[in-house]
Amino acid sequence: LARRPFNFAPGPALLPEAVLRRAAEEMLDWQGSGMSVMEMSHRGREFTSIAEKAERDLRALLAVPPQFRILFMQGGGLAENAIVPLNLSRAGAVDVVVTGAWSQKSAKEARRYADVRVVASNEADGHTSLPPPASWQPRPDAQYLHLCSNETIHGVEFQTLPDLKALGSDAPLVIDCSSHILSRPIDWPKVGLAFAGAQKNIGPAGLTVVIVREDLLGRALPACPSAFDYQLVAENRSMFNTPPTYAIYIAGLVFEWIAAEGGVAALEARNVEKSALLYDALDGSGGFYVNRVAKDARSRMNVPFFLRDESLNEAFLAAAKERGLLQLKGHKSVGGMRASIYNAMPLEGVQALVDHLQDFARRHG
Ligand code: PMP
Repeated sequence: LARRPFNFAPGPALLPEAVLRRAAEEMLDWQGSGMSVMEMSHRGREFTSIAEKAERDLRALLAVPPQFRILFMQGGGLAENAIVPLNLSRAGAVDVVVTGAWSQKSAKEARRYADVRVVASNEADGHTSLPPPASWQPRPDAQYLHLCSNETIHGVEFQTLPDLKALGSDAPLVIDCSSHILSRPIDWPKVGLAFAGAQKNIGPAGLTVVIVREDLLGRALPACPSAFDYQLVAENRSMFNTPPTYAIYIAGLVFEWIAAEGGVAALEARNVEKSALLYDALDGSGGFYVNRVAKDARSRMNVPFFLRDESLNEAFLAAAKERGLLQLKGHKSVGGMRASIYNAMPLEGVQALVDHLQDFARRHG
């Protein structure tokens, strides 16, 4: 093959080829150290420099203000559904906005620790819209409000974050941005805590990035495991226990790649272009393909779609695979297809998918 196939997996997902090549070059001997990064002490000089640079670069890329701490943790997005209430809920009231499968899971898990209320939901329309923030009624005693800013399965993305203050709430906003972090800027004044599993836009599975406002540290419930206590993790600069060292190293290479590509603003412009190309092809297919998400709620990262004739699904996937377009099958709870087009997916990859959509429709339309 002249090029690697284009991989549309929802996560773990594709990584920039330059990152994989660099990791391969450095596999046996990281920069003359005589060690693979996997073999280094997490407290040694070499790895400390890798982790500190990754943190600095992430802070610069996302313009994280100084009053926020960046934590490199483990457990993934689902563990955060427990770790966040263990740290922030004070076993009191927690509000959740449900926009798809992931926020639904967050609400369910938080119920083990807190008094959860769903203050808005798009369940009635099958998770295809965004409930307008003006209709939410956050509780005055809520310790925080949780939302998923990009629903990976349903393909619903907040284009702007809600301003809870404008809704009369002082509660911090918690966002699960696992599947679109670094694809667009984050509006920090509106946010108390952001978390993301790494395996979509950051790097390998095993690393969870938590970015938390300093005043939210030190509130953990007594039952919170020490390794998941944000305050302890922050005090120990993410070295309370052994962090996922190799995943942090790869994440650092991805951060360098993003900077070299022109930063988050440049990637956002590319993501706008990529997603528009794909949605236009689906919308312009005369109904051969359909994406059911309201236009103002459509995700730039995860594009679920259906064939009008679902008996063609297997043929569609087989023909896609033949042209080097991988992992397009939709999530089992939704069915159909899904194209995840994260930062590392080049425009040519989306163009190749659009060519396939059109060729296949021509042959079977
Ligand atoms: N939140 C979102 C938005 C996700 O997309 C995912 C994973 N697809 C998760 C949470 C769960 O992440 P993990 O499997 O790392 O626990």
